[in-house]
Amino acid sequence: MSTLYDVYIGLGANLGARRKAIRRALDAVGDLPDTRLVDVSDLYETRARFVEDQPDFINACAHLQTSLTPEQLLDQLLLIEKDMGRVRGVRRGPRVIDLDILFYGDRVIDKQGLTVPHPDLQNRDFVLRPLFDIAPRWVHPVLDKTVRQMLEQLH
Ligand code: ADP
Ligand code: MG
Repeated sequence: MSTLYDVYIGLGANLGARRKAIRRALDAVGDLPDTRLVDVSDLYETRARFVEDQPDFINACAHLQTSLTPEQLLDQLLLIEKDMGRVRGVRRGPRVIDLDILFYGDRVIDKQGLTVPHPDLQNRDFVLRPLFDIAPRWVHPVLDKTVRQMLEQLH
């Protein structure tokens, strides 16, 4: 039996049937090999940030346990995005589904195409608010702060 790692992912959608897309992506994640879906946050409606001239998002976070490596998991998440019809356009622009790895255990990864913890999560209310639902005491391995502390410092 291989080790299971606790992983938190962020989900976002702002085109089409947004809630349906989040649920479909969660089902797909739960169906990944060697992976189980442990917990899901509430769904939050949030204003688009960065590129502001686009529809509001639905955001959520989920807790997984997986024995996939971070690279394998990212590949699978990108495949789910592709399967669901995501077309890559403007960076930070509208998308039917966005799946990001927020934390992978306490691993710190910084390589081409994969940065974990997700950079900038500590500055994003739309990530921290749903994450707080399911992991208020989870500690950021670089900043050494809990999700609760990061959320409080943002307000
Ligand atoms: P964003 O989520 O920043 O809006 P995209 O979803 O278009 O951007 O992702 C672009 C690339 O970000 C992906 O192809 C992936 O290789 C890279 N990436 C780097 N770190 C991560 C991570 N922790 N989770 C998801 N994607 C990541
Ligand atoms: Mg992404």
